[in-house]
Amino acid sequence: MSVILLGAPGTGKGTQATLLAEKYNLPWISTGDILRDAVKRGTELGQQARQFMDSGRLVPDEIMIALVQERLGEADCGKGFILDGFPRTVLQAQALDQYLEAKNKSIKVVICLEVGREKLVQRLTSRRVCRSCGADYNLITNPPPANGRCRVCGGEIYQRTDDREETIAKRLQVYEEQTRPLKEYYQKQGKLEIVAGEGSVKDVQRLIQAVISQKMNQDDIYQKQQGN
Ligand code: AMP
Repeated sequence: MSVILLGAPGTGKGTQATLLAEKYNLPWISTGDILRDAVKRGTELGQQARQFMDSGRLVPDEIMIALVQERLGEADCGKGFILDGFPRTVLQAQALDQYLEAKNKSIKVVICLEVGREKLVQRLTSRRVCRSCGADYNLITNPPPANGRCRVCGGEIYQRTDDREETIAKRLQVYEEQTRPLKEYYQKQGKLEIVAGEGSVKDVQRLIQAVISQKMNQDDIYQKQQGN
């Protein structure tokens, strides 16, 4: 089963994607995390991506498409995956469809998390992350330890450059202009499910799992009707 998590920055895609990956025992693929790791390691990809990320813009499609295709070709993606942060443009979505189609596979469901703008800005400005293991903190709802070190691994906790107020506005604008059109793209395919993302992590996860179960049941009924 392959699932896409769609939504503006700060809607909780990463948090929900990790829980889903655990629940269904599927790999969690976060393109933002892959890029941040590449930047940290100073690889060629990291050097190409850095300027785009720091200014809140999207990394060019051709780089992202090649990166994701390579990752999806790995053995652990054979039975499905949870995609977080990809696709972000219609071109990326088309490339993903073509790639999967060639392998006789497809996306099962696209979950779009919706959160009001004010809450998004509040979540993003108060987000803090561990530089080593990527664990997420929030100054309001899940404050990091007073010594500034990660509870999980002891790494340094920092604020992502792109979570500063001046960059957030740009990221939200980029989402509206380039990523929101994906809702229509997947709606036309009958795959889009909108989930309210303002509740607690647990409540939102429950809603998402309910949507996925319903989708799986519908597909089962359809398959039976087709005599498969
Ligand atoms: P995220 O952690 O998903 O918010 O991603 C952080 C940044 O990485 C984004 O603001 C983009 O600059 C870049 N990025 C991540 N995924 C993509 C993608 N699918 N297409 C283009 N840029 C991306």
